[in-house]
Amino acid sequence: MENNSLIYKKFWDDSLAILKKEMPAHAMSAWFEPLKAIGVDGDVIILEAPNKFFCEWIDSHYKKEILRALNSATNKQILYRLKISKKDKTKSIPGYENQLIPEKNKFLSRNNLNKQYSFDNFIEGANNEFAKNAAKAVSMGPGDNNFNPLIIYGGVGLGKTHLMHAIGNEATIINPNLNAMVVTSERFTLDFVNSLRKNKTIEFAQQYRSADILLIDDIQFFRGKEQTQEQFFHTFNVLHQSGKQIVMTADQYPGEMKGLQSRLLSRFNSGLSVDIQPPNFELRVAILLEKAEQNGLSLDYSVIEFIARYVKNNVRDLEGAVIRILAKSSLLNKEIDFQLVKDVVKERTGSKIFGDISMEDVVKKVSEKSNISVGEIVGKSRKMEIAEARHISIYLCRNIIGASLSNIGLYFGGRDHTTVMHSLTTVDKKIQTDLKIKDSVFNLKDQIEELL
Ligand code: ADP
Ligand code: MG
Repeated sequence: MENNSLIYKKFWDDSLAILKKEMPAHAMSAWFEPLKAIGVDGDVIILEAPNKFFCEWIDSHYKKEILRALNSATNKQILYRLKISKKDKTKSIPGYENQLIPEKNKFLSRNNLNKQYSFDNFIEGANNEFAKNAAKAVSMGPGDNNFNPLIIYGGVGLGKTHLMHAIGNEATIINPNLNAMVVTSERFTLDFVNSLRKNKTIEFAQQYRSADILLIDDIQFFRGKEQTQEQFFHTFNVLHQSGKQIVMTADQYPGEMKGLQSRLLSRFNSGLSVDIQPPNFELRVAILLEKAEQNGLSLDYSVIEFIARYVKNNVRDLEGAVIRILAKSSLLNKEIDFQLVKDVVKERTGSKIFGDISMEDVVKKVSEKSNISVGEIVGKSRKMEIAEARHISIYLCRNIIGASLSNIGLYFGGRDHTTVMHSLTTVDKKIQTDLKIKDSVFNLKDQIEELL
């Protein structure tokens, strides 16, 4: 391609026009329009993106669409490369700028361990430590342990794929000659079906049986696929008998999985099945802190807690929330304030969580509990129990609704924001030192949140 700025800019503009016809408007404004064509390098167009997570997001969600648009806009096999804008304040990832999009290799999913999934960046908590330890043990001595096969099971977004790749990564760091093959069960099925079509079942079998560690993700997709299961059964036996390691993930306890042949299930029983549970509150906080740091995002602890309270189901959602906050603030060029965070959490959890709860609802509830009137709570009295009910109301308005300091101040009889801050720190301190207060504040919080 000629290094003519008009040409590559035009190519990108044309591609955007094509994308516009296919993609929803929000995706256009959030992800495509911010990309700027800044150069070419052979047949690779260089697109500038605001930051690291943006690049990752584009690559993991929109690579195909972009390549397709570039190809139809130019009538050529044009690739793209993302470059992080110099203006980005978040940390850049080494190698990203030179990373070619491996379009030609996209069917080489085998051996394609995702290097970003390691044990080091897998945060441990009560819900996953057993799975992590088993995975580690397997990576240290693939095949020569009692955990063969190792099956990691649990709901979506809880880190099963992460742990599986971590096993492959760790094992090949320890022994670079190991052949670690990682595939999804869908990929396995597809490869098998293709081999049938092309009369290459022998090659298929050889390829899979050459693995030292075979890592198969999401085996629930084998359900009902009799012939694939049969193939898998043989592959499994060959590997198992020759002391090779097999690791699988599943969305539920494999022993109870319907639609899988019982002879497969009984093979699975010879190894170890470990589950991962949804993260508890503390782990969610830890994960958010880590993900925020990885993305160069500094969030107030209160914000982290707020997200952790509402985004509960899985780690993928937590990560998504962090990425979305960054994206929103950088795209809209807005400070990350409580409102923005609240919007993101609301988007991700559905508005039901927030309902239309108001400061009035909060104060009413506190009034009910404390037998102090609403008027007194928002009034001027300095009597100890009234002041305490007021402090608690303010604390709850901040922590449940996320009201701004100035709005809280206004509602509570025109106090300024330092007074509001004072209430917040008072309650924070009391919660830490006085169990009774802690209990009653948390009870109130639960009750108010039930209104939502
Ligand atoms: P699953 O395969 O169980 O659906 P993934 O392994 O794809 O879930 O995890 C979803 C995302 O959450 C990934 O980006 C993964 O890195 C991240 N993740 C999950 N659990 C953890 C954890 N304990 N520590 C750090 N990141 C995690
Ligand atoms: Mg997975």
